[in-house]
Amino acid sequence: MVKIAVLGSGLMGAKIAGEFAYHGHRVKIFSNKLESLNSVFQRLEEDKKQLRQDGLLLTKNFVGQVLCMSRLEETVNDAEFIIECVTEDLEIKKDLFERVSHLCSSTAIISSMTLRLNVSDIFERTTNKERTLGLRFLYPVYYISEVEITPNKHTSGAVIEKVRALLEKMGRTLFFRSGPEPLVLSEEQREERKAEKIALMRTSSTVVSSHRPGIPNLTPDTGYTGGHGPSTSHALDRGIADVVEPDQDCAICMDKLRDCVMRPCHHMVTCYTCAALLINRRDGCPICRKDIIEIIRVYSG
Ligand SMILES: [Zn+2]
Ligand SMILES: [Zn+2]
Repeated sequence: MVKIAVLGSGLMGAKIAGEFAYHGHRVKIFSNKLESLNSVFQRLEEDKKQLRQDGLLLTKNFVGQVLCMSRLEETVNDAEFIIECVTEDLEIKKDLFERVSHLCSSTAIISSMTLRLNVSDIFERTTNKERTLGLRFLYPVYYISEVEITPNKHTSGAVIEKVRALLEKMGRTLFFRSGPEPLVLSEEQREERKAEKIALMRTSSTVVSSHRPGIPNLTPDTGYTGGHGPSTSHALDRGIADVVEPDQDCAICMDKLRDCVMRPCHHMVTCYTCAALLINRRDGCPICRKDIIEIIRVYSG
């Protein structure tokens, strides 16, 4: 499980968040446009419904969870991989990345999605430029496997390799832009790719259930290393149970365990202290964004 942060909750942002959660990753999605952020939960429910109809999702939910965050620092502070997809505006992106690079860990990989802006310009005021790159998913994300990668002159080979490994495990193919014009699929091409993907997934043994091993990890392996060869991920080594174990950490502080439910939605996603903090600042539930009116402590054991 990789900790993903998606910045921007527009059409693409929500679908990218859904795609990573579909593959078992924990996603935090941030927007300062509350109306948009508050609709992510519902939009993902609609995506899941469509994926179920197409036979690509066999369970009620994605394996991973999408948390909708109203504060940038709480979104990126534990992220291993940050994916920006806000408005196509150079100054907005520059400002955002300057802030992000001061809030995120020194090892986080930072990507920007742009159609026509220069990636080096976007990261002009970002620190640790060797961890920055351009990454562009194609609409409607779940069904289109190609992802455009645009390294800048600072991007390290190790970063490109990590991104490639993560996305390839999700069945994605990276491509570099050839020529001045970006690849934009026509409606017809989208439908074609979608039909291909559905056919492929239906015949594939890796179809989508909660029993898919091999969710890759971006952090260096630190645990058991014996005997399985260098290319096998540890999640894979340890078997399925560990991979699909639900995230127990509080969505806000990532320090304490989730130990309360919120009313009226009854989601269990934060520790009691952070739930109280959300009420105080009139913030919503990180899963469904409903207003919280009461917190109920939960005791286990
Ligand atoms: Zn907490
Ligand atoms: Zn909720």
